Amino acid sequence: MPKAFLIDTTRCTACRGCQVACKEWKNLPPVPTRQTGTHQNPPDLNPFNFKLVRFSEHMDKNGVVSWYFFPDQCRHCLAAPCKMASSDPAAILQDEATGAVLFTDLTAKEDFETIRGACPYDIPRQDPASKRLVKCDMCIDRVRANMLPMCVKSCAMGAMNFGERDEMLKLAAARLAAVKKTSPKAQLLNSDDVAVIFLVADDPLKYHKNAMAEAIQPMTRKQFMAKAISPLRRIGGQTVG
Ligand code: SF4
Ligand code: SF4
Ligand code: SF4
Repeated sequence: MPKAFLIDTTRCTACRGCQVACKEWKNLPPVPTRQTGTHQNPPDLNPFNFKLVRFSEHMDKNGVVSWYFFPDQCRHCLAAPCKMASSDPAAILQDEATGAVLFTDLTAKEDFETIRGACPYDIPRQDPASKRLVKCDMCIDRVRANMLPMCVKSCAMGAMNFGERDEMLKLAAARLAAVKKTSPKAQLLNSDDVAVIFLVADDPLKYHKNAMAEAIQPMTRKQFMAKAISPLRRIGGQTVG
C-alpha cells in the first residue's frame, strides 16, 4: 500500500524540529551557514539538509505582515521526473511497497544538472565528496520497521502527518474543508502527483517559488528529454532545459 505525507502548513510554527530531527537521524554533519536576515537557516537545501523549513514574509497594502512557513523536502512524485531523466534505470528506484523514490550509490554516475533540472521542486543535491546525488528517502529504514519518518515523529504541532495514501487523502480533504472556512485560497499542492502533499492557506508562490509544479505525465527517458528542452515545468519561474 503506497504511503503519503500530509504537511499541513497551517499548523506549522516554524520551530524547525523536523529539520533538526532529519539531520540527526540521517547523521548529517553540520555545515557552515550564515544569517541572511530571515528565520530560514540554512539559506537553501544542501547535501547535508534534506529537510528545510522555508520562511517568507509578505506585507499587504495596509502594512499588515504575514509569515509563511514551508517545511520543504522531496515530494516522492508518483511518476518521478528525476527517475524519468535518469540514464541508468538502476540509479533511481521507486520502492513498490511505499512509493518512496530512492537514490542509490549509482547516482554518483548520473549527470547531476540533468537530474536536478528535471525535478519540478528543485530537490536533489550532490555530495561534494562522494559525488552521490542525495535527498530525503522517506526514512525508508524506519518506515519498513513500521515507524514514522523522523520528521513526522518530531512534529508536536500535527503539521507533519504520514500513513497510507488513502488515509492521508481523506485527512487532507477534511483539513482543506476546515481551513477554507477562514482562508478561501487554501489548497492542496499537486495532490494527484506526489506522495508529500502540502496544504497551504494562500497563494503557493508566497511560500516558495517551487512550492507547486505543473501536472506531471509519466513518460520514457527519451520522451522526457525531448520535452525537457521546451516547457516551463516549475510554476515559480525557473525554466528547465
Ligand atoms: Fe513546522 Fe512541525 Fe517542522 Fe516544527 S516540526 S517546523 S511545527 S512541520
Ligand atoms: Fe524526484 Fe524531485 Fe520528485 Fe523528489 S521531488 S521524487 S527528487 S522529481
Ligand atoms: Fe528527513 Fe526522513 Fe523526513 Fe525525509 S522523511 S525529510 S529523510 S526525516
